[in-house]
Amino acid sequence: MGVLVVGSVALDSVRTPFGAVHDALGGSGTFFSVAASYFTDVALVAVVGDDFPKAGIDLLESRGVDMTGLTVEKGETFRWSGVYGYDLNDRDTIETRLNVFEGFKPQVPKGLLGSEFVFLANIIPALQSSVLDQVASPKLVACDTMNYYIEGYRDDLLDTIRRVDVMVLNDSECRELASEPNLIKASRAVLDMGPSTAIVKKGEHGALMFTRDSIFSAPAYPCESVFDPTGAGDSFAGGFMGHLAATGDTSEANIRRAVIYGTVMASFCVEKFSVEGMASLETADIERRFRMLKQVSHFEP
Ligand code: AMP
Repeated sequence: MGVLVVGSVALDSVRTPFGAVHDALGGSGTFFSVAASYFTDVALVAVVGDDFPKAGIDLLESRGVDMTGLTVEKGETFRWSGVYGYDLNDRDTIETRLNVFEGFKPQVPKGLLGSEFVFLANIIPALQSSVLDQVASPKLVACDTMNYYIEGYRDDLLDTIRRVDVMVLNDSECRELASEPNLIKASRAVLDMGPSTAIVKKGEHGALMFTRDSIFSAPAYPCESVFDPTGAGDSFAGGFMGHLAATGDTSEANIRRAVIYGTVMASFCVEKFSVEGMASLETADIERRFRMLKQVSHFEP
């Protein structure tokens, strides 16, 4: 069935207690696409500058990502830099430079206007909405965002959120978006903004999924080597949407399974810098972790 994604394609500079990288391949659209490519066909709508390295394109191509919606503009690629301390759930953004994204007008290629599964990865909310304006009648739309847009683009963001089925946020973003410190109340407030499902990621503490009348709690995969959490949220979304698009099933039971596939892809992402941890997986690696998560959360009533 395939999934269409709009999001950032970036060059990231990241420092963790275990090492540093400069101008590494990153961006919400990139992590999402690589993760989702293990489940279904992925088409990426984004922009890069004319400084974007060929190695980045090669990697996305090697995962079979459809890049007919990727524009190359004169100018600099989106840049992001961040620093992590030993608590890898907490990071400081040092710099965000939108660069070529500032004047970008996303154009969904003609052949993709009928896309049924659409993911609005973290990017300027008006760009997320403009992709939705173009797609005819999607079966399921999910959306991510971050503090940068919650604080600086709130009205546009609320317009986007009103139009989506599933909102995927981390815990601090959820609290900030809802202006509510209690995560349960904050998630309900997010549902009141329009989506029928809210998924709240809590880093190494797993994820919660809320609908109007249910709560599902997923553990994090017990990773022994966490190296760089950058992109974990986008990789989660890639596994999540990838599974939904591959199966075409949007029942709550299947959305719960998708949360577990999201958790699995995030666990591969955090083990290395950039997309390296997800660059060459086998389906069996993914399924092994899926089964492990079933085991670690099973108990007899
Ligand atoms: P995550 O760790 O899941 O929040 O994703 C981090 C990725 O998102 C990095 O690769 C960044 O390039 C990208 N990113 C960071 N800030 C922004 C932003 N304001 N807009 C779009 N993408 C961003």
